[in-house]
Amino acid sequence: MSQTISSPKGIIRVRKARSMAERVLPKIEKQKCVLCGLCVEACPEGVLALKQGDLVFANPQDCVYCATCEETCPENAVRCEFEIRWAS
Ligand code: SF4
Ligand code: SF4
Repeated sequence: MSQTISSPKGIIRVRKARSMAERVLPKIEKQKCVLCGLCVEACPEGVLALKQGDLVFANPQDCVYCATCEETCPENAVRCEFEIRWAS
């Protein structure tokens, strides 16, 4: 199952979660994260936040699967594991 979503970079196709609990979000590798906050600043939807010395999903329901956080992270601590197919 997949669904098509508009993002700032075009049309993307992502795996459709079977429930909200399975909703696909970027994976943060905490051991690599240096809490620089660049992904927080770069996220266009305010999904990520630094709180009490941790990187958290403050507004996970607002994620638009743009992968900007993955592209921005200088430590390769973010992985967007959903399938992406760029529309031609
Ligand atoms: S994929 Fe995009 S919207 Fe979702 S957390 Fe990363 S930067 Fe924010
Ligand atoms: S950009 Fe990378 S290292 Fe910086 S806070 Fe985000 S996940 Fe952590």
